Formats: sequence, C-alpha cells, structure tokens
Amino acid sequence: MAKIQELSELLTNQIAAGEVIERPASVVKELIENAIDAGSTQIDILIEEAGLKKIKLIDNGEGIPTEEVLNAFKRHATSKIYSRDDLFRIRTLGFRGEALPSIASVSEVTLETSTGDQEGAFIYLRGGKVIEKRSAQSRKGTTITVENLFFNTPARLKYVKTIQTELANITDIVNRMAISHPGIAFRLVHDESQLMRTAGNGHLKQTLAGIYGVALAKKMRKIEGEDLDFQISGYISLPEMTRASRNYLSIIINGRYIKNYLLNKAIIAGYRSKLMVGRFPIAVIEITADPLLMDVNVHPTKQEIRISKEKELMALIESAIHQCLSKEQLIPEALGNL
Ligand code: ADP
Ligand code: MG
Repeated sequence: MAKIQELSELLTNQIAAGEVIERPASVVKELIENAIDAGSTQIDILIEEAGLKKIKLIDNGEGIPTEEVLNAFKRHATSKIYSRDDLFRIRTLGFRGEALPSIASVSEVTLETSTGDQEGAFIYLRGGKVIEKRSAQSRKGTTITVENLFFNTPARLKYVKTIQTELANITDIVNRMAISHPGIAFRLVHDESQLMRTAGNGHLKQTLAGIYGVALAKKMRKIEGEDLDFQISGYISLPEMTRASRNYLSIIINGRYIKNYLLNKAIIAGYRSKLMVGRFPIAVIEITADPLLMDVNVHPTKQEIRISKEKELMALIESAIHQCLSKEQLIPEALGNL
C-alpha cells in the first residue's frame, strides 16, 4: 500500500465539518444562510434539545431542481459562484459549497425540496451516505432536518456544552440573522415553545423590537453616514443603556453579519468617554459597500472578512455615532424620554 493516499470524500467532509460545524448553532447558521440565498421571505427554525436531537428549517425559497439534489451534497458544489471573477464580487452568503456535505457527514439529514414547477425531491443521508432518494410532492421551498448531530464524531459531541449554552448560541445567531434581514420573517421554536419571531416587514427598528423588546427598541437612536466608499445606517442605544458584553454589537456588511474587532472599537469610540468601564452599548450598524472592497474568503465560517479602507470605515462609524449622541444632548425632549 502506498504511504501517501488521497482521503476519501467522507473523510474530507468530516475534516471540513471540523472547521465549519463547531456546534449546533453552526448548523443553524449555515442552513439559514442557504434559505436566505434562496430568496426566502419566511424561515421557520424548529429545534429540539438545543439542536442535538433535531434542527429543522422550513423556507419558502426557490428550492432545488430535482435532478440537482445530489449535487447539493457534493463537496465544493455550489450554485453561487462560477468563476474567479465572481469570487471577488460575492453577493450571496454562501459560496464555498461546503456546508451541506459537511453537515451531512456528521449527522442524519432529510431534505425535501421543490422549485414549485416540477415534482419535488426527497433525500435522506446518514453519515454522508445517501440512504434514500425519491420524488416527493412538495410546496415551493425547502425543508431540511438535521438529526443526531455528531453521532459519528464522539470527540466533537463531548465538546458540546450544556443545553442552555448551546441554545443561547442558537438564539444569538438567529437574532443576528434576523437583524441583518429585516425583510424576512423569522420564527425560532425550541421544544415547542416560541423563543422569537420577527415580522419581516423590512423595518429594522421593528425587528429590533421583536428581539430586544419594544421598550428597549424605542429608546434606540438612528444613525446615518456616508463617504465615497461606504454608506452606513443603523440604531444605537444611549450611553445610559448598556450591557456587560459586546454581544449586543451587530455589524452587517451587505447583508452579512460579521465579527470585527476594529469596527466594534469604532462604535465604542463614538461614545467617547460616556460609557462606564466594562459596559457596552447596544448597536446595529448596517454597511453598504461595493463587494470589491471586501474579501469574504478569509475564514471557513465567513464571519471574519477583510475590508479595504477599514480605517475610513472606522472613522465614518465613530463620527456618525458621535454626531447622533451630541445632537441627543442638545434636544431637551429627548432627555425626557430617558
Ligand atoms: P453554498 O451555500 O456555499 O453554495 P451549501 O453546501 O450550503 O453551499 O449548499 C449547496 C447548494 O445547495 C447551494 O449552492 C444551493 O444551490 C443549494 N441549496 C442549499 N440549501 C438550499 C435551500 N434552502 N434552498 C435552495 N437551494 C439550496
Ligand atoms: Mg451554504
């Protein structure tokens, strides 16, 4: 036997899953991204035992053509980019063609999908192997169920934390997806109790009310700003209303929720010395920019991206927040609202 051998497809998928699918919340994130990319206006997320037993997503997106259902589970197979040029102008949330094969390699997946104009398809895979595939009557859209996550990767299963921790992670990711897509109606249900629901009417402030509560959303202030490269808008809390963690800072670029230490710093800098030590505001900053200014192909989970002209963007965010808060101090009736 040769010493150096190519890995089997199942093994490469499991290795990719190690990067992309860290915990149940990662599955939820990838499946929501697919539903968003498919143009859904409604996404229902039904979870059992913090996703370890079952994660079910129902969307009303464009569906997968019956003859392409197997392709969706092949590694590096995607409908989202076709050329090198596309890679530099990514407008979809996905593009790596990794999520479905990775998830399928470490769980049991059932997918039912239809484009609405032909007979739908049903497929069931276990540990990455196709067990059953048949046609199915189905409304337009996709329903995907992921069960027994990590059943064949005991080390990963061990790493998974308590139900509460995993559920908090899932809620966090669904909230951020909903905040970055106010035009989509999201619903999250855990063990039959509804944890959150957004209207999906396109209004960010109403989406924030659905997530953080009406009282808090009412107190948030609108910010806006632009320079030659970036357009920003969003809502921020007044300095009196803070939280003990940075979890309430949301940065969205062209509909993609990202993690960015420097942009978080810019938000906080906008408050100047008005925040107490160890306290952080609640803020949602939506950024619109030419995709050419962004490299999203940096990390498998696509949450870290590289931004050209990051310093300019930081300055823009900081000054928009500073301006908003300075104005707030000058208007007495606003103080009456506190
Ligand atoms: P990527 O999103 O990077 O393309 P995935 O493995 O997540 O890779 O999905 C593979 C393909 O399956 C997608 O490119 C898309 O064509 C199709 N697909 C997955 N989920 C859905 C969905 N909910 N609705 C429609 N098509 C989907
Ligand atoms: Mg995807």
